Amino acid sequence: MAVGEGKTDSAKRSQQLQLLSAVPPYRPTALPILDERLRGTKFVSLEPKSVLNSPQQTGVDFWSLNPYIGCEFGCTYCYARYAHRYTVERAHDAGKLSDEEFIEFRGPHGWEAFEQRVFVKETLLSALERDLKKYFRSGGPPGRPSTPIVIGTATDPYQPAERRFRLTRGVLERLARCEDLNIGIITKSPLIARDTDVLRRLQERSDLEVHISLTTVDVALIRQVEARSPMPAVRLRALRRLADAGVRVGLIVAPVLPGITDDVPHLEALFQAAREAGARFVHAGPLRLYGAVRNRFLPMLKAHFPHLVARYRRAYEGRSGVPRDYARALAARIKRLQARFGFPANEGMADRYGRRLAPVQRELGL
Ligand code: SF4
Repeated sequence: MAVGEGKTDSAKRSQQLQLLSAVPPYRPTALPILDERLRGTKFVSLEPKSVLNSPQQTGVDFWSLNPYIGCEFGCTYCYARYAHRYTVERAHDAGKLSDEEFIEFRGPHGWEAFEQRVFVKETLLSALERDLKKYFRSGGPPGRPSTPIVIGTATDPYQPAERRFRLTRGVLERLARCEDLNIGIITKSPLIARDTDVLRRLQERSDLEVHISLTTVDVALIRQVEARSPMPAVRLRALRRLADAGVRVGLIVAPVLPGITDDVPHLEALFQAAREAGARFVHAGPLRLYGAVRNRFLPMLKAHFPHLVARYRRAYEGRSGVPRDYARALAARIKRLQARFGFPANEGMADRYGRRLAPVQRELGL
């Protein structure tokens, strides 16, 4: 007998209602899960309207691009958590995440999901095509000094997701077809060495600077402050491979953690390692303790460096940057080390890519 045949109207209605209740509620375009890991990470597809952020949007003197939102490396000082939270809230508001998923995509303390729900901008190449037109219209090449484009300002472009999704490689392939660009890449991952071929092609037509990010060569310390990042030795090996291939590559020591990694022996070890790996430069900058960073970083501080908790609270009270005197003292220390190890003297990313001005700070003590 076909559905509903020979039944009364009310029986038919109740059967139809039962059938309807078995259909999942309509959701405009729920976010597809692309992959999952045994440890619980989910990779979630996100369709970006644009991928190149202009200086007007971000308030810094360069364009930026981040293929992923969220990062499995899970550094306790990572300031990109706010962008993940914003993406989750917008997806929820747009009906793409249910209330239950919204809770799951925030995590119990509001920061876990950054490391376990990674948004993958799957269709970023078509967005990049549109954005490049905007970029060139805004005064980029040809014929003029180009405003830098920095890849990896918010999340690591060579985080584990890149091994499978290859979005960063796709972006570099596209940019390698342009001329006279000024490209910066920041990463902690040795996976960047996979793309040596495209980096070399890119460098033939444009300026390129690769920043391998490393805060310490102390293996035990790195695991306290970075949950799942690659070990120092493998990052330095990747630096060596790129340097040997002729790619302009250096070390970025950011953030320098006050009272933890800012002493001379710590910094000397990094400069020495960079020298031996063939780095062309070493940049460094102190920790910024933004609101979104505090509830991840301060518990780590309390667990491993309880003697520093009060000092950090006083120094960063009501502000995200270090005190001005501390910043000056650290910059002088870095300059002395740059001179001693034969690296060009500068203040780091700020020199090349510009910066936001930090507000006046209170004393922290180097
Ligand atoms: S590698 Fe970079 S983006 Fe990833 S968690 Fe660490 S600081 Fe954040």
